Amino acid sequence: MAKVTIDASVCVGCGLCEQLCPEVFEVQADGVAHSKVDTCNTHNISEIVEQCPVSAIKVE
Ligand code: SF4
Repeated sequence: MAKVTIDASVCVGCGLCEQLCPEVFEVQADGVAHSKVDTCNTHNISEIVEQCPVSAIKVE
């Protein structure tokens, strides 16, 4: 099963991933995005990975 991780040293907290898929991503009080779950039945996570401006999201 895929695991979604966000590199906190790279993420700039722009909120795009959360905007595109709030089921998985959430920008928290520390100013960076976190993954709440690893899959979403509605959104294509691979496309969101490609849209992150700093390539902070990994799916492994
Ligand atoms: S899109 Fe990328 S840089 Fe923006 S909040 Fe999400 S992980 Fe961070």
